[in-house]
Amino acid sequence: MATSLIEDERVRWRRDGEKSSGGHVVYWMQQAQRTQHNPALELAVRQANELALPLVVVFCLIGDYPEASARHYRFMLQGLVDVEQHLARRGIRFDVIVGEAATTLGRLDARTALLVTDRGYLPIQRAWRDDVEAATGGPLVEVETDVVVPIDLVTDKMETAARTIRPKITRHVDRFVVELTTTALDNHSVGSEAVDSDWSRALSDSDLDCVDLDDLDAVIDRLGVAAEPGPVSSWRGGENEAHRLLGAFIDGVLGDYESLRNRYDVDHSSSRLSPYLHYGQISPVDVVRRIRAAAAPSDHVAAFVEELVVRRELAINLVVHHSDFDRFAGLPAWAKETLRARSEDEREVVLTAAELEAGETPDEIWNAIMAQIRDEGWTHNQLRMYWGKQILRWTNTPEHAFRTLLDLNNRHFLDGRDPNSYANVAWCFGRHDQGFQERDVIGKIRPFTDKALKRKGDLEGWLESRRESNRETT
Ligand SMILES: Cc1cc2nc3c(=O)[nH]c(=O)nc-3n(C[C@H](O)[C@H](O)[C@H](O)COP(=O)(O)OP(=O)(O)OC[C@H]3O[C@@H](n4cnc5c(N)ncnc54)[C@H](O)[C@@H]3O)c2cc1C
Repeated sequence: MATSLIEDERVRWRRDGEKSSGGHVVYWMQQAQRTQHNPALELAVRQANELALPLVVVFCLIGDYPEASARHYRFMLQGLVDVEQHLARRGIRFDVIVGEAATTLGRLDARTALLVTDRGYLPIQRAWRDDVEAATGGPLVEVETDVVVPIDLVTDKMETAARTIRPKITRHVDRFVVELTTTALDNHSVGSEAVDSDWSRALSDSDLDCVDLDDLDAVIDRLGVAAEPGPVSSWRGGENEAHRLLGAFIDGVLGDYESLRNRYDVDHSSSRLSPYLHYGQISPVDVVRRIRAAAAPSDHVAAFVEELVVRRELAINLVVHHSDFDRFAGLPAWAKETLRARSEDEREVVLTAAELEAGETPDEIWNAIMAQIRDEGWTHNQLRMYWGKQILRWTNTPEHAFRTLLDLNNRHFLDGRDPNSYANVAWCFGRHDQGFQERDVIGKIRPFTDKALKRKGDLEGWLESRRESNRETT
């Protein structure tokens, strides 16, 4: 079978060379938690075939990822169950090992001839890769799996707005939206007793502990993950569900996406792929490829690509190129200035972070959105905009507003702690935007009020459905 190209721009040899010892190609899966359309996995398979070595895929699991709780871990672990099943079908061994990546992979270094990984953008993900590089000695290759256009090809600086990054991305999109074929593994690692027992011995000699994905609650308990916010039943993690949602979106929404995407009062009016994209459970390249192949009007396809590629990759640009992307101090000077100048404006009431989290503002709309975020780990983009913009009304300083919004966002949303989280929270305070006519409290920041919600959907109908759902749960 012909194999498709993995573009050179996706591949970075962090350490080149050959290692004659080691006996295994190891793919340390981290950002791209999927088997379909995963160029790091495919590169690892091709390398294993070329070197005539068995391939092992390893996932390193810690219990204290910042701001993550059982809500996030359950979703992620559901995804790893899919990974395990799909890899087993391809004859590839998969181990979920408890511990930091650098410690784990450092201990396995003597058994590793080539280490492959994917690329992550947040500081913690970049630090993990640097630590792994320092803890190992053999060839190490990093593959960029989770953007359409490799980020270093787009720009080497922080972009100020969508308008500045758009042309730099769109000129490359066609070249990178290609189907990635899977390659069969010649040297099976599952089912080959010799390989299996050799690798199991390597794990036990290295004093490494694997978890069994049959009982996810037990895994969460064992890792000591924060219990709250708890798991949500309305979502299921994993690539199988991601592809089901993508199919439903293409059949039911894409043809009218440009108008439907604003309808917060309609269930499933957008793709709902953000949590799956966050965990790398679906490839953005694969999504664009499928969307383009569907017979939908081009303006709707273009509107979707604008969100999935331009806006999402603008967010990645921010977290990579701006060291203060996650704090008020990192906002553009005009935004900080206007908000500080308005911090003495009279507020109806000033609330603490805990009161905001409990939804105790004088505004029923805000409280209803907050309740949905707490209960379901997700809300519609239009409601996120209202939620994010209005918080300034009940906070005594813009710094407190920014910090609280980001904290609520990251702890409650299934798609929280993503580059999109930081870029969009910062957008509520002026990032990637321009000044508007000056108003009380928000200064020159772009307003977003209930008038906008009323224009875009049936606000009263949405509120009534939320009241109904609260009655059912109490
Ligand atoms: C205050 C606030 C907080 C937000 N927090 C997050 C967050 O924590 N995580 C997160 O992924 N998104 C966040 N967003 C952006 C956006 O609301 C979600 O990505 C979107 O609602 C997800 O729904 P969807 O997958 O159905 O989107 P669709 O409309 O189907 O869009 C497809 C994909 O495009 C991307 N996308 C859509 N809108 C944006 C945007 N404004 N910026 C960047 N990429 C976008 C997402 O990856 C999304 O999954 C936030 C927005 C605001 C205003």
